Amino acid sequence: MMIDLKEKEVWFITGSQHLYGEETLKIVGEHSQIIANFLGEQSKIPVKVVFKSVLTTPNAIHNFCVEANSAQNCIGLVAWMHTFSPAKMWIAGLNILNKPFVHLHTQYNRDIPWSEIDMDFMNLNQSAHGDREFGSIVARMKKARKVIVGFWQDQEVIERLAVWVRAALAWNDLQGAKFARFGDNMREVAVTDGDKVEAQIQLGYSVNGYALGDLVSYINKVSPAEIQKLVAEYENSYAVQQELLAGGAKRASLEEAAKIELGIRKFLIEGGFKGFTTNFENLDGINQLPGLAVQRLMADGYGFGAEGDWKTAALLRAMKVMAYGLEGGTAFMEDYTYHLEEGKMRVLGAHMLEVCESLAAQKPSLEIHPLSIGGKEDPVRLVFNVPAGRGLNATILDMGNRFRMLVNEVDVVTPEFDLPKLPVARVLWAPQPNLKVGAEAWILAGGGHHTGFSQAVTKEHLEDFAEIAGIEYLVIDNEMKISEFKKELKWNDLYYHLAKGI
Ligand code: MN
Repeated sequence: MMIDLKEKEVWFITGSQHLYGEETLKIVGEHSQIIANFLGEQSKIPVKVVFKSVLTTPNAIHNFCVEANSAQNCIGLVAWMHTFSPAKMWIAGLNILNKPFVHLHTQYNRDIPWSEIDMDFMNLNQSAHGDREFGSIVARMKKARKVIVGFWQDQEVIERLAVWVRAALAWNDLQGAKFARFGDNMREVAVTDGDKVEAQIQLGYSVNGYALGDLVSYINKVSPAEIQKLVAEYENSYAVQQELLAGGAKRASLEEAAKIELGIRKFLIEGGFKGFTTNFENLDGINQLPGLAVQRLMADGYGFGAEGDWKTAALLRAMKVMAYGLEGGTAFMEDYTYHLEEGKMRVLGAHMLEVCESLAAQKPSLEIHPLSIGGKEDPVRLVFNVPAGRGLNATILDMGNRFRMLVNEVDVVTPEFDLPKLPVARVLWAPQPNLKVGAEAWILAGGGHHTGFSQAVTKEHLEDFAEIAGIEYLVIDNEMKISEFKKELKWNDLYYHLAKGI
């Protein structure tokens, strides 16, 4: 279900001009190849880095951008001006470029060779001013990009590039992605709804609705043999509650859960979907709320949103791609309930059932319990805790005239007490800078209750993604000041109103 990283490439290009002569351009090309090879060899950078060429004319730059735009495997560009590259040459190319790019502001030589430096060295190592010329036209043309400054072998430079590559991968994955919405939106709920047409224009994915009957016909076609095979997989993967084991009083419910998982999975695979939403108000023909199925499908990389929340489903898919291969889980999440003791204020995050098992601190427990909402049979679900450490919540909101990404960094903590009667997966966190300020800012910004929660994705991944997508980005972290945040909200209202035009 996840992406094939081996197919994906970042293209490295170097700008120059003919003024320096063939010999210098040859060295520029060799240096570029060395840098691209070095970056591509870094295990942190999950795709190939391919040096394409030294670009020295407006035509060559334009033709290169045409090629990059239409190359399926190219997720983005790294641009570097080893020497001076007059930036009017870049206008035609940048005008049509539709792939994300990084401006790598580095220099081949880390050090000034103090005793040796002559005008040949100065002639070759000009990125200090060459990259400024390039940056000036990119700024004037208001092209989205990430600027990374530093020596190309430095870990920080490699890490910042690796983060951007993951954001570009998520963007690439979302273009043309399809999301299935089973049963539309939970009635009267505001934040889960929004403008799906605008999302397709701005973010590149489509969301279409399907009747529950469409899904039920897939579930009903599942064979008993498939069910037994999947139940055996459950028994190998989880600590299964006594009642759900063979001969147990609730064994049939576990088989039903397996049947639901197999049906949804087939529907998603056949339709080529990268995520889906459910709505517990509309489960006609399904005997239990899909808990276990959703938890396991998320673990395989599918985006998910409950109550029809397609924006969170798509965001979660993007976060799953960003997190691919990194340590730490990523899941659909909801701020569920609070602990408001002064000095120890916490959020207990959970959902009715649907928290991805990638977050689990230990082997999940597979259990069945009644659900006090929805009026269906008792659903099967995975129950687990989440390890302490860093984390964040992210959401995308439809503000009416734009999409806003809102991120809150959190510190995940281990509960001081067991929760023996809480039959769902759960995570306890302290929002940054603290619950009071974090929640105040979140609510002022219009942040809803559903999020993508991750212990792998960082705010830099999401900031890079928002930059590529051209959407608003707000972060609530330890540096945030509420008075500044309130101003930012007002300024952003003005900026997006003006920037959008009529
Ligand atoms: Mn919910």
